[in-house]
Amino acid sequence: MAKEELECSFCGRKKPETNLLIAGLDAHICDRCIEQAHGIVIEESKQTDSSDLFAELKLRKPQQIKDFLDGYIIGQDMTKKVMSVAVYNHYKRLLQPKTNDDIEIQKSNIVMVGQTGTGKTLIAKTIAKMLNVPLAIVDATVLTEAGYVGEDVESILTRLLQAADYNLEKAEKGIVFIDEIDKIARKSDNPSITRDVSGEGVQQALLKLLEGTVVNVPPKGGRKHPDQKFIEVNTENILFIAGGAFDGIERHISRRLNMQAVGYSASISEDVVDKDNLLQYIIPKDLKDFGLIPEIIGRLPVLTYMDPLDSKTLRAILTEPKNAIIKQYKKLFLMDDIDFSITDGALDYIVNKAVEYKLGARGLRSLCEEILTDAMFELPSSNEKKLNITKMYAEDKISKTTIKKLKAVS
Ligand code: ADP
Repeated sequence: MAKEELECSFCGRKKPETNLLIAGLDAHICDRCIEQAHGIVIEESKQTDSSDLFAELKLRKPQQIKDFLDGYIIGQDMTKKVMSVAVYNHYKRLLQPKTNDDIEIQKSNIVMVGQTGTGKTLIAKTIAKMLNVPLAIVDATVLTEAGYVGEDVESILTRLLQAADYNLEKAEKGIVFIDEIDKIARKSDNPSITRDVSGEGVQQALLKLLEGTVVNVPPKGGRKHPDQKFIEVNTENILFIAGGAFDGIERHISRRLNMQAVGYSASISEDVVDKDNLLQYIIPKDLKDFGLIPEIIGRLPVLTYMDPLDSKTLRAILTEPKNAIIKQYKKLFLMDDIDFSITDGALDYIVNKAVEYKLGARGLRSLCEEILTDAMFELPSSNEKKLNITKMYAEDKISKTTIKKLKAVS
């Protein structure tokens, strides 16, 4: 076809009548037709949005949700199972048809208790990724009651709106992960002696969000932009997942278990209690004894715990998850045509150091960075196309760093 004869295969406009004519295999399309087609795609996707969720849910039963989580999170089987059911039920609740049988499925907000670096955030992130819903991760420590220095509780929803690109409908079906929920616990066991404003006040403010209400949210966040228009966000269908280390909660658990053991109604007797992992026996009452107000606990009805990471788990975290650290380095080096490998001995060494320095899973990355930084700096501009990390190589690099530095990164 001669150049001047080119035309849009959709509307027939000749090339000079268009701003842009894009060639395909056997056809051409002009800018106007592209825009029109784009409009149709947007309209269509709007219509299918709500049925998407339904299709998604049909595809993903709790077992499949857990299988997905297994691809990214090592261990934590109990929590992955509990989360799979909670998430499944939450989205079933979103799809419940309006009936008049008075049975209303209630929200299944979740609270995860476990040391830092055991995968709480990772689980929330992975679930959001799987469901393709926006996720806001917020730190409870920065929240304060309205009027105090810090962020208002509504700022949580600002974050969610931002994560959803200000698509309100999407945000209202999103997930909020509130980290360090334990830090807003009432500081004293006895509420009548110290009324702790910062802790209890924030808990009170959070209550409303958790149970489902319409909140006026400043889209750009609180106080710096006083003139902005508020967006009304309904939190009824937002899934809240709270996480915290609850340092010292074992004391409450163990005290309770001892009391149970003394009473004749003991369900777990002293000798079968696994003292190294008391968190597995946690019940809502322990959260109350720790300082969460009963109303908050009531609105986080699914309670689950994280196992501490032992060396076997740390070792698996290095290599097994879909985006395991070692796989990431392999990919990075491959982009420079460098074949990266690491021996079992070196991997064991990294794990042993992480355990020795109590660095947890986050420390695995800082250790790897220390070991590999020189190579990542030098190899791309050298002719070397192979890198094999041995235990000796790793030892040499780690001996030149300090624990302080490793801890700072993790
Ligand atoms: P938390 O929220 O409990 O403090 P994170 O989820 O932020 O911990 O975990 C920190 C990092 O450690 C994660 O990004 C991940 O790389 C790794 N990690 C922790 N626990 C696991 C796990 N169980 N499986 C896989 N990776 C993990």
